[in-house]
Amino acid sequence: MENCVFCKIAAGEIPSAKVYEDDEIVIFKDIEPKAKIHLLCVPRAHFATLAEADGERTALLARALAKIGRLAPDLGLAEGYRLVVNQGENAGQTVMHLHIHILGGEPLAWE
Ligand code: 5GP
Ligand code: ZN
Repeated sequence: MENCVFCKIAAGEIPSAKVYEDDEIVIFKDIEPKAKIHLLCVPRAHFATLAEADGERTALLARALAKIGRLAPDLGLAEGYRLVVNQGENAGQTVMHLHIHILGGEPLAWE
């Protein structure tokens, strides 16, 4: 989608520190990390929220979660990590292209 920063990163039109990519997702470092390791898993397909997840997008998200699980040790996350998907205004979603935050590399507060 035009003027979407994550579509542009996925297409390589905006530089990012990619740590993984395949035909359906890219994983790159968050520009403002909120943990020692803070990655973003972004589907190449543009849609903004889970409310827009039809059958194919749901299957894509399931594959993305399984992939994160398999890749975690290679991403420095063998000791554990947290996944966050901000949805809408109250959650502070700023980029309206669905993405999964991957946080880890250190013990994470949970309060
Ligand atoms: P949200 O608040 O929408 O869930 O998260 C968006 C995230 O994208 C934020 O953590 C922000 O730091 C990150 N971000 C925004 N623009 C860019 C960018 O151009 N490059 C990278 N690597 N991360 C970005
Ligand atoms: Zn997009």
